[in-house]
This record gives sequence, structure tokens and C-alpha cells, in this order.
Amino acid sequence: MRLKLPAIQHWSCHSCSGCCRQHLIEVTDAERERIAGLAWSAEDGLPAEGPLVVPFAGPPWKRRYRLAHQSDGACVFLDEKGLCRIHAKFGEAAKPLACRVYPYAFHPAGKEITVSLRFSCPSVVADRGLLLTDARSDVRRVAEEVVPQKTVTMPPPAVHRRQRVEWPDFLRFVDALDATLAADDGSAIAVRLLRALFWIDLVDQSRFEQIAGSRLRDFLSLIVQAARDEAPADLSTLDEPTRTGRLYFRMHAAQYARRDTAADLDAGLLKRWRLLRAAIRFARGRGEAPPLHPAFQPVPFDRLEQPFGGVPDEADEILTRYFRVKVQGLHFCGPAYYEVPLVEGFRSLALVYPVVIFLARWLAAGAGRATLTTADVSQALAVADHHHGYSAALGHRTARRRVRGMAAQGDIPRLCGWYSR
Ligand code: SF4
Repeated sequence: MRLKLPAIQHWSCHSCSGCCRQHLIEVTDAERERIAGLAWSAEDGLPAEGPLVVPFAGPPWKRRYRLAHQSDGACVFLDEKGLCRIHAKFGEAAKPLACRVYPYAFHPAGKEITVSLRFSCPSVVADRGLLLTDARSDVRRVAEEVVPQKTVTMPPPAVHRRQRVEWPDFLRFVDALDATLAADDGSAIAVRLLRALFWIDLVDQSRFEQIAGSRLRDFLSLIVQAARDEAPADLSTLDEPTRTGRLYFRMHAAQYARRDTAADLDAGLLKRWRLLRAAIRFARGRGEAPPLHPAFQPVPFDRLEQPFGGVPDEADEILTRYFRVKVQGLHFCGPAYYEVPLVEGFRSLALVYPVVIFLARWLAAGAGRATLTTADVSQALAVADHHHGYSAALGHRTARRRVRGMAAQGDIPRLCGWYSR
């Protein structure tokens, strides 16, 4: 198995236990039996009562199971020091596969498997640990357990609706996106996203039956250069987002501002009622933004629309790395992102920029500050990326229609400019 690893990213687990507190860990039947067979004693500190594995979905003849959780949503196996009891007593290999895979994400890319990471992990955001290219054998061991062999024959995602190309050409689009985001010309990531959005719009209007191989390479270099010349370098010259664009954006941002843990599955009607009320308030955009995550304080929506003095340089570098890792790892379209084509997937990915800054402003305003810190942006990114490609709501046709609506009105670049202030 040939792995394509992001050479710009470091990661090692620093045992923060964040993933064990917010993820639902689904287990296979074999894992369920294996976990049931582990020999625990009273000294191990597991709850004296209650199951270790519980059903959570599926019909009676095809039940799906997950690890049980504690009252705060943390995994039942997480101890009071934030360590995994299975790992401590039986070794890493005894843990469910889902725990060992996180925060990696693997996607087929022709004859290779690309590796991306989930920025919901704070060590990924902070770029802490081993350079991934130096951890190749460890990553391969995990990949071999989760990536089915048949993925090497999987076709690439569509480029846009009803337009498909072969893998070599598909990867030419991906390389051009990465090169646009990597431009080392002193511009902010928001400017580079605008350039990429500019030429992605041209791709959306083009057909590629006659443009392949070296002709596609020439076409891409032409439109990438046109984007450099034509897309605004000064974001203050952009129009404000439209009224509808702002409404769609708030609804979209609300999906990223949630904190859903395994405990929420049991919260039932009350939780759903709270979410519905919050959605109505986000749609109105008046009064106080209702916190959907314990990190946020109630602050007026108006405050989040005021300039916050721009994005710190260090945070801009983190966001650049984020977008490049997602693009290189194909973590924005196809099977990694609700099976959407490349064009729609990239627009959804670009929207993560205003979402993250919106959430970072919320954190800063909640702490009584009028400027953003790198820590605000890092934390906002970890909150947002927990959902990107993983929350069912973002793959729902309503959310996809919103993204298409924002793109059709030209609001995605405007939102990037608006929140970069
Ligand atoms: S089994 Fe261990 S690693 Fe997996 S979520 Fe539970 S505590 Fe965390």
C-alpha cells in the first residue's frame, strides 16, 4: 500500500483525552465480543454497574453498537487521570479500531492512499509530535487495518456535476489547489482562498472531455495565473456579504458551533427542543448568540460582526496548514465529504475560514477581548473541524443547498473578506 503523507504536518498523541470525551466509538461485533471477554477486576475502577457496550442504531436484526459513556459523555473506559483503561491494562492493540485510527483519515487517490488528519485533535492543530513522513510505518500499520484493498480501483470523485475525469487529471486539479494555497508571496490565507475560489468558478463552468493530460495542465496554469491577476488582493475592497448570504452563513456556522457527545444521544426531546430554539435565534441573528458548546459564552450577534483587528500571523499559518492538509489528503470531497464533487467540496472547505473566525470572535468576545489571539483561532478550528465531513447535518441536502446558494450569490469570497477584518 503506497501512502501519500502530508510532509507539512506533525502529530503524536499527547494524551489530552479530548477524543475520548467527545466521540462516539462504534464497535464491530468482533470488537464487542473481544471487549466483553477482557478480564477486569474491582481495582480497575470501571463502573460497578451498567454495560460497557450499548446498542445505538439499526434494526434489531442489524444492531449497531458503541462504547458506553459516563454521565459527562466521556467513554466508559476513560479513567480519572484522562487515560484509557483498555490501553493501560491490555495494550494499545486491544482498543477498538476507531480509537487507534483517530485522528487519521485515509482516502483513495488512484494507486495511492492519501492521509489527512482531523483538526479536532489539539495536537494536530498545534503541529506537535513526529513529522508524519517520519511516522510512515506506524501510519501504514493503521491504514492496512482500515483501508479495503479494493479502494485502489475506486474512481475519483466528480469534478463538478456530471463531469468526471480519470485519476491523473483529477489529481492535477488537487495539485493546482494546493499550489494556490501554498503561494509564498506574503499574502494571507484568505487572499489565497479567494484566488482558488476564483478559478474553481471557472472550472465549474467548463467541460473537460476535450481537455485532458497536458492540455488540462496548460488550462489550469492559465486560470491559476488569471486568478492571481484578477482576484482581489485587498480584502477591504470586497462587497459586504448579502443579507441572504449572512442568514445562510449563520445557519451554517451554527452547525459547526455544536458540541455533540455520546451523552446527547440519550438527551432526547429536551436537547432537540433546545437545538431548535437555537436554530431559530441563529436564523434571526438578533439578540444573544445561544452557546451550543461549553466553550462559548452568550454574546450579542452584532458583536461578532464587528472587526476584530485581523487574524494573527501565527493563526494564519495554522489555517494555511489546515487547508493544505485537507486538500492534499482529499479530505474535502468524494467519500471523505458526503460524496460531493470537487468544486462543491472546495467551496464548503473554503467556508470553514469564515466559520472558524466567527467562532474565534465568539471565544474572544466571551472573554471580553476585542482582538483575536492564536489560541482563539486554534480552539475554534478544533471545534469546527470536529464536524467538517463528519456531522450528518452538514451532508444533508439543506446544508448543501445553503452552500450552493452562497456560491451562486458570490457570498463565499465576501464572507472570507468580511471575517478577515
Ligand atoms: S476505548 Fe480508550 S481510547 Fe477509545 S475512547 Fe475509550 S478511553 Fe478513549
